Amino acid sequence: MNLAQLLARAAGVFPAAPALSHGPHLVATYAELAARCARLARALRTRCGLAPGDRVALLMSNRPEYVETLWAAWWAGLAPVPINAKLHPRETEYILAHSGARLAFVGGDLVSGIAPLAAGLPALERVVEVGSSDYAALLASQATLPVHPAADGDVAWLFYTSGTTGRPKGVVLTHANLLAMTLCYFADVDAIGPGGAILHAAPMSHGSGLYGLPHVAAAAHQVIPESGQFDPAEIFALADRYRGAAMFAAPTMVKRMVTHARTAHPPLEGLKTVVYGGGPMYLADIQDALAVIGQRFVQIYGQGESPMTITALARRHFADASHPRHLQRLASVGVAQTGMDVRIADAADRPLPAGEAGEVLVRGPAVMRGYWQNDEATAATLRSGWLHTGDVGALDADGFLTLLDRSKDLIISGGSNVYPREVEEVLLTHPGVQEASVVGRPHPEWGEEIVAVVVRAPGAAVAAEELDRLCLAHIARFKRPRDYRFVEQLPKNNYGKVLKTELRDALAREPRT
Ligand code: AMP
Repeated sequence: MNLAQLLARAAGVFPAAPALSHGPHLVATYAELAARCARLARALRTRCGLAPGDRVALLMSNRPEYVETLWAAWWAGLAPVPINAKLHPRETEYILAHSGARLAFVGGDLVSGIAPLAAGLPALERVVEVGSSDYAALLASQATLPVHPAADGDVAWLFYTSGTTGRPKGVVLTHANLLAMTLCYFADVDAIGPGGAILHAAPMSHGSGLYGLPHVAAAAHQVIPESGQFDPAEIFALADRYRGAAMFAAPTMVKRMVTHARTAHPPLEGLKTVVYGGGPMYLADIQDALAVIGQRFVQIYGQGESPMTITALARRHFADASHPRHLQRLASVGVAQTGMDVRIADAADRPLPAGEAGEVLVRGPAVMRGYWQNDEATAATLRSGWLHTGDVGALDADGFLTLLDRSKDLIISGGSNVYPREVEEVLLTHPGVQEASVVGRPHPEWGEEIVAVVVRAPGAAVAAEELDRLCLAHIARFKRPRDYRFVEQLPKNNYGKVLKTELRDALAREPRT
């Protein structure tokens, strides 16, 4: 089935329902959005000469045309390649070349960065600036295309991994993968009622854009903040306007919302659900968020290779404070989403019993078809029929998964394994610590020694000795950092993930004293 049928169905059943808004301004009802997509689809196939399966790059920050171009591409049977708008032009060039995109829809602010690259990209025949007269001309004809009869296994989203190590890989997500994700949203994440909305506060090239799917399936409203980026004040104001709003947020965004809400006291009633994930949420931070923003949270754990759909920690688990293992559950990423199998395995892929830490393996309908033109990486990552996530975690007897770390972030000091997250969780309980990241630094005797890189809370003067005492009171001696670095900010990628590789490299470059 073609995902675009979800849009066609919504337009048939709820033609007058609002489909897309830009801040407070309605851009299109469902009838209008479907009609525009059907026209743009026709222009892509006939005037631009694209064939089903051809790749179409989407390179723009959040704006209404994101929705239109994405759904038009599906409608026409093309394969969208959403590219993070904040990448360096060289990284974008790699993705355009590797995906073999024949056409790129580009935001006006990014056109000048792309133009000089076009000569080195023979497959890229056309760059269309969204919102330009060129773009309007594609939509000018009233001729439409019926939804292309895509197969379940056709490419629906070519998703380039953030590539913190090495070149990014193109994850092939099919129509069936994204349909599975959509159904899991309803089963495990949230219900979307009449008049429901999603606020696209996070980049639409990633989780927020993917979550447009269940919202279209439910004929709900997609709202794109006018700023095109994440501004907590704007988000709270939009939630107040579009009651029953949901949003996807990375943990760093949740933290900024909490800081804003604590001082500005915005109305919260309109904000129905904050789905968070994409990186570790520390126990101290989620407790803070629940105290300030209330019971509005759902956590998901996913990765590009199984988009948004590995486990979920549901609203009822947040609310069930009397459960004897409530805090453990809050610190977990929840249970397997519907239809997904999660197992913990050792290095030889043998399943491990509850309570033991190993690599998280995943199987099920949301797992990618493979990597684009990279059979070797596909075979390694999907070996024995399971997606090897590269995350280390443990399942408890009830099926709750606790993530320890990425396997490459594990520190081995004096022969003992130290999971940085455990140390970070302790450091973050100190009110003077705003952020903390723990990494290993090469050490001639122990292999690696543990270093904590800490951002102090505004106005706090917390010192290393105090944090050392805190660690001694809570974790084994061998796990405590031997060195503390106080910094103004942590290096992060465009999705807000801490770049531990950069921290490790910087420490390894320092001369030893
Ligand atoms: P990406 O493919 O860029 O979305 O990154 C996926 C990775 O982010 C996962 O493999 C995890 O390491 C991490 N991640 C995603 N969701 C969570 C979560 N809820 N808690 C902790 N880490 C997460």
